[in-house]
Amino acid sequence: MKDRFNGILLTRNEAKETIVERRELGLDDLMDGDVIVEVEWTTVNYKDGLAITGKSPVVRRWPMVPGIDCAGTVVESSNARFSPGDKVILNGFGVGETHTGAYAEYARLNGDWLVKMPEGIDGRTAMAIGTAGYTAMLSVMALERHGLTPDRGPIVVTGANGGVGTVAIALLGKLGYAVIASTGRPGEADFLTSLGASEIIHRDELSGPAKPLNKERWAGGIDAVGSHTLANVLSMTSYGGAVTACGLAQGMDLPASVAPFILRGVSLLGIDSVMAPLALRQEAWARLARDLDPEKLEAITSEIGFRDVIEAARDIVDGRIRGRVVVKME
Ligand code: NDP
Repeated sequence: MKDRFNGILLTRNEAKETIVERRELGLDDLMDGDVIVEVEWTTVNYKDGLAITGKSPVVRRWPMVPGIDCAGTVVESSNARFSPGDKVILNGFGVGETHTGAYAEYARLNGDWLVKMPEGIDGRTAMAIGTAGYTAMLSVMALERHGLTPDRGPIVVTGANGGVGTVAIALLGKLGYAVIASTGRPGEADFLTSLGASEIIHRDELSGPAKPLNKERWAGGIDAVGSHTLANVLSMTSYGGAVTACGLAQGMDLPASVAPFILRGVSLLGIDSVMAPLALRQEAWARLARDLDPEKLEAITSEIGFRDVIEAARDIVDGRIRGRVVVKME
C-alpha cells in the first residue's frame, strides 16, 4: 500500500463556498474504518456532482474526500467478513457525505457497509451500474413488491436519459414491461428505444402544475425528478398503480393533491439507496447481475479517467451527461 496517493479533497472557504482540488493524500486524511479498499473503479452520480459543485448541502463534514461509491480490492481488514484480496462494492452509507469517500486511490470504510462482489459482475460493471443503477433496481423491486406486472400496463420513467432512468428502462424492458420514457432530450429517442422504451414523451408534458387527477396513462412509474413531474405522474397513474420516488432533479417539492391516493388507490413508494439494509442491497446486486443486459449497460456507459472526474461532476449537474459514467482510477 502506498503512503501517499492521489485523491480529491473538498474544503470550504470563509464564505462557505466549496473548494475542490486534486491533491496527494495520506491515510491520515481518511476517517476511521476497519477495512481499507484499494479503489479500482468509481463513478459520477448526480449526488457527486452536487457535492463537488457545492450546489446542494450534500457534504456534512469538512474537509471531505467526495465520491459515494466504489469497487475495489480489500488491502487491509480487521473485519471478520473480509480479508485482503476480497473484491467489494460500496454504495452510500454517507460515504462522500459524512465519511471520507471514493475519490482517492484508497478508501477506509466500515466493513458492514461493503457488499461482496456478486458472481457475474466485475468492478467496472459494478461502477457502470453504480448507485444510480442500483437505485433503479431498488425501484423496480419496489414496484414488483406492490404487485405490478407487465400485463397491468406501461410504466413511465422520468429523467429517462439520466443514470437512474437509463438503467430503469433497460431493466423494465428486459422484464417485459412497456416503457414510456419522459425526457427533455427528444433527440435521444432512438437511443432510448434501443434500451427498451416503447414510447417517448417530452418532459414538458409533465413539468407544469398538475391537476389533482388526469387521464390514466400508465400503471406505474419510476421517478427521478420530483416536484411537478412527480405530481403529474401520480395524477396520470391508473387505478391501484404505484410510483416510486427516488430523485429531485426538478425539485425537492411535491405540489400534488391526495386525489390519486384516495380516489384511485395509487401508492407512492419511497426509495432510499443510502441506508438500505444489507440484505436488500445483496438482493438488488444479484438481480442486476441477472436482469441487466450487459450490452445495454455498455451502450449507456462512458468511461473516463480519474483526472476527468471534476469536469464530469460539473457536467452531470448541468444535465450534459447521458446514461452512466464509469471512472478508472489511474
Ligand atoms: P442524472 O443527472 O444522470 O439524471 C437526471 C435526469 O433528470 C437528467 O438526465 C434529465 O433527464 C432529468 N432532468 C434534469 N433536470 C431536470 C429538470 N429540471 N426537470 C426535469 N427533468 C430533469 O442523475 P441520476 O440518474 O444519477 O440521479 C437522478 C436523481 O435521483 C437525482 O436527483 C439523484 O439525486 C437521485 N438519486 C437518489 C437516490 C436515492 O437513494 N434516493 C440514489 C441515486 C440517485 P432528461 O435529459 O432525459 O430529461
